[in-house]
Amino acid sequence: MGINFKFASEIINIFDPASVDENFKSLTFVNFSSSDEFIKIVLENGSNCIKKPEKYSLLHHLIEGYLYCYLSHERYYLLDSLCDDFEKELIIDFFHRQYDLINEYQSSEIDYEEIIETLDSEYENSDYQCHKEYKENLRTLYEKYEEEFEKFIPNIVDSIFFLLFGNKKFLFYFNEYMSSFISKDYLPVDMFDEHNHLIRIKYLPEWLKRAVYYRDRGRCQYCSRDISGLYSILEDNEKHFDHIIPLEKGGTNDSTNMQLTCSECNLSKNKSLVNPEHYYEVYW
Ligand SMILES: [Zn+2]
Repeated sequence: MGINFKFASEIINIFDPASVDENFKSLTFVNFSSSDEFIKIVLENGSNCIKKPEKYSLLHHLIEGYLYCYLSHERYYLLDSLCDDFEKELIIDFFHRQYDLINEYQSSEIDYEEIIETLDSEYENSDYQCHKEYKENLRTLYEKYEEEFEKFIPNIVDSIFFLLFGNKKFLFYFNEYMSSFISKDYLPVDMFDEHNHLIRIKYLPEWLKRAVYYRDRGRCQYCSRDISGLYSILEDNEKHFDHIIPLEKGGTNDSTNMQLTCSECNLSKNKSLVNPEHYYEVYW
């Protein structure tokens, strides 16, 4: 899971409220003239799961977008910005990263170890670092790598999602950030009610209730009360599920915006946004 932890922690850092706008800019600048354009595409692709929870959630779409931006960055730094005095370390680093990543999924058709060795020896040869041919080799290699990486994107998205879905603090910040885009400017008008909030869905799918129940370990996320004795996922129990960012505050019906609550907390009018610092509990 090494490389996926790295990706997951990069995504967590992007949503750090202190620097989120800046982080988005640096993530998306290679492909987009503004980070809003990137979010627009994520929302377009994920508009169905905002309306009604889907297994391939808004966060899946975001991760997928992140991975394509990651690829473009690699290309940009490695190839497009290659100049005569490009740094060998940059290239070797790149191939080490790719080697780790591809290795994590299955054996690669590309022998990165051999490539690194070849590049090393070619580089050492006289003026090779300025040589056109050397750069062409790199370009061809990068394109092969890109093709291979794209094949693994669905697996990588699933692994990163697995890591992020358990991180309640991240889910809070993710949904809070997305809430500023939940408007008729970005989404179809018929998704909203007369107060400009997304239309509430009546029933959550069983697969989602089950996932949220086990993730939250049967405890109300407001008061920590253990409701596992009261709860059966086979019953009508919508009152035990709540939006992390309420619809009234721009929250969505996405599966990443749901949490477990006791019915008292859920029905309470005084409920305020949960402090994400309180999300972690000890296992025993
Ligand atoms: Zn409660």
